Amino acid sequence: MTIAKVLVTGATGKTGSIVYQKLKQDSNVRVEGLGRSPEKAKKLFGSTENLYFGDITNKDSIKAAFADCKKLVILTSASPQMAAPPKPGERPQFAYPTDGTPELVDYQGQKNQIDLAIAAGVEQIVLVGSMGGTDENHPLNKMGNGKILIWKRKAEEYLANSGISYTIIRAGGLQDQPGGKRKLIVGDNDELLANPPNGIPTSIPRADVAETVVQALKEPSAINKAFDLISYPEADSDTVTKDFADLFTQTTKAEF
Ligand code: NAP
Repeated sequence: MTIAKVLVTGATGKTGSIVYQKLKQDSNVRVEGLGRSPEKAKKLFGSTENLYFGDITNKDSIKAAFADCKKLVILTSASPQMAAPPKPGERPQFAYPTDGTPELVDYQGQKNQIDLAIAAGVEQIVLVGSMGGTDENHPLNKMGNGKILIWKRKAEEYLANSGISYTIIRAGGLQDQPGGKRKLIVGDNDELLANPPNGIPTSIPRADVAETVVQALKEPSAINKAFDLISYPEADSDTVTKDFADLFTQTTKAEF
């Protein structure tokens, strides 16, 4: 099956770049990416071919990337920066740049992308978010007083109500480990955080999240689903997840 243009935003990010490169290897997919920095893109991919550059908080700057787009992968995110080196014995303090707060990037910036997708006639959006958004007191919400998971969840809700087919993947803690070696587990609304099977860490390699994104673009059972995603540690994986149609069948529509 040939998929018409897929746009991956956050294409120079840690997970976005894996998704972008996986899709590039698929001759049935026409993939383009949206990044912020041509220099970073050149370092990562060797060229800026098929890439657009802009700021998701400025709708006009990213509009061109959405021309002819049929599927959209949203992998943009605010990232906190260390405010100052920690004093001995103290934890580091984090802050968001004033032009890069979660409200601006994770809510307004994602809303901008969804609005542009609606205008372009996009058929499906795969959005990668984070587990923990049901808990206002989650440490990530406290970080830099940014309420990042709350803003991410508001953007998810906007997407679920947009009328576009959606797949919302709320990942557990991301690891830079090889993909394709573990059994993946899906859950709903942070139940896995409260009760992980066998007490396993609620984490997953970025490469496995990226593969789940790629499969969600292809499998009808991923349409209009929202789910948490973690993996068994490699040593505890009695099987490796290969049947993503079946994995998505275990998930349900978004509830807020
Ligand atoms: P990442 O490397 O931080 O990538 C974020 C991307 O967003 C980067 O490509 C960045 O551009 C782009 N971006 C930020 N602000 C932008 C703006 N104003 N305009 C355009 N692009 C902008 O992400 P990741 O660590 O792979 O995480 C992927 C997703 O999983 C995120 O939503 C994250 O919150 C979520 N998640 C993370 C964890 C974790 O443990 N870290 C856990 C669960 C879920 P540049 O490349 O130019 O910086």
